[in-house]
Amino acid sequence: MPRQTQIGLMSHAELVSEYETQKADYAKLKTEKLTLDLTRGKPSPEQLDLSADLLVLPGEGDYRDASGTDCRNYGGLQGLPELRAIFGELLGIPVENLFAGNNSSLEMMHDMLVFAMLYGTADSAAPWAGQQVKFLCPVPGYDRHFAITEALGVEMIPVPMEHDGPDAHAIAALVAADPAIKGLWAVPNYSNPTGVVFSEEVVRELVSMPTAAPDFRLFWDNAYAVHPLTDLAAPIVDVLGLAAAAGNPNRPFVFASTSKITYAGAGVAFFGASTANLQWYTRHVSKKSIGPDKINQLRHVRFFKDAAGVRAHMQRHRAILEPKFALVLRILEERLGPSKVASWTEPKGGYFISLDVPEGTAKRVIALAKDAGIALTPAGSTFPYGKDVEDKNIRIAPSFPPLSELEVAMNGLATCVLLAASEHLLD
Ligand code: PLP
Repeated sequence: MPRQTQIGLMSHAELVSEYETQKADYAKLKTEKLTLDLTRGKPSPEQLDLSADLLVLPGEGDYRDASGTDCRNYGGLQGLPELRAIFGELLGIPVENLFAGNNSSLEMMHDMLVFAMLYGTADSAAPWAGQQVKFLCPVPGYDRHFAITEALGVEMIPVPMEHDGPDAHAIAALVAADPAIKGLWAVPNYSNPTGVVFSEEVVRELVSMPTAAPDFRLFWDNAYAVHPLTDLAAPIVDVLGLAAAAGNPNRPFVFASTSKITYAGAGVAFFGASTANLQWYTRHVSKKSIGPDKINQLRHVRFFKDAAGVRAHMQRHRAILEPKFALVLRILEERLGPSKVASWTEPKGGYFISLDVPEGTAKRVIALAKDAGIALTPAGSTFPYGKDVEDKNIRIAPSFPPLSELEVAMNGLATCVLLAASEHLLD
């Protein structure tokens, strides 16, 4: 039975009784000896099966692209034009402004930052290394972004995420005042972990705001560009076109990959940018590679055929993912809605749901869940340096477990949230 009383409005006696109920529920949960995992946003085996044909493509004797390039050999640093045409159409990037690379867009992001550190960007007077460099980090955000900047000694400044993107006014004020702020991490469509889609208004502000640093860059990670969970796919705002129109053509570095489209870790990554940025990137990346894995790129061309092929494929992913998201949202509502102890996002795409529990209890919830055999992403991981000062955000990744396991894990998590909340209020 859902509880009808809001925990925050309970009398002391009611709260004690609530605590005892949750403690008993939790004790029962522990006896189930679960081993469930809601940590990383990985595609499920069923999703990976959707791309089974990739394992036999391009097939015997098929190794030339449309222009006759022998994909078995060195060269073609920018990637196969046919594949760039498909993803250029999907991402709204002219084919000449798009690179198709190897298997990881995170690796490309890391490269961009390392190149900027070692050589400076197309607009820098000096390499970034040796200078104080700061990045703005919308929170909650993606832990692996924060890990890259942390590893390279970049100071990270959290900025709040709103319903339509990061707080652009706060960002504009910060970048106008501080020349050390040289970048912003952004996941414009179906953000990790909130599912927020940046509005065109926010994008316009980010590409046009005056920045004290002449070499300020938007690290525009469109990892979930074509990953809707509803009939109405979020539009892809033309960040490169808007930046050029605003007189800042070199500001965006756009990234994407097929990691959540075909195979996670064995797909193709993309980098889109202005001509000057691509020349800069080519100059540096050509020292570390003679060219990407074109056979894998050809395999992807054969598999998808065109942009419509990718969209149709994403509908098959959606058919698997949508019931999982619906299940998580239903359990959150049923178990946590009436007690009003938590709030959560209802994403229209992407891979995550962001759950906010009462301040000061996220660590405790995650520890309780761990002891009951339910693994969650560590508390704080959606914040720079792993520091969620309010200790309230938890990232839920529903994609990997089968529905039956997801249901058990979410009910277990709800019990942990309620137990931690009543414990905290009695404290
Ligand atoms: N960017 C975001 C926002 C992600 O959520 C992920 C994976 O979860 C990645 C990038 C990883 O990209 P890749 O596999 O292309 O390195």
